[in-house]
Amino acid sequence: MIGLGTDLETATCSRAGCRSDAIWRLDWRNPRIHTGDRFKTWLACDLHVDYLREFLATRDFPLTVAPLSAETDQA
Ligand SMILES: [Zn+2]
Repeated sequence: MIGLGTDLETATCSRAGCRSDAIWRLDWRNPRIHTGDRFKTWLACDLHVDYLREFLATRDFPLTVAPLSAETDQA
């Protein structure tokens, strides 16, 4: 559903229909389908970070939220 593998620096929000620049990253894991330390990463704009975090939190998925800019030195 969400294809990453693009440059995170130019990525947009993962919320469907949103084309805002992402400024947050959500690294999460579904224990039922992701084994070991495989994580998925969603990106979110300021408006949707709470929505996506709630979406994952209600499913009890392990989740970390961090500012996207913290991952790159060239922001
Ligand atoms: Zn958004």
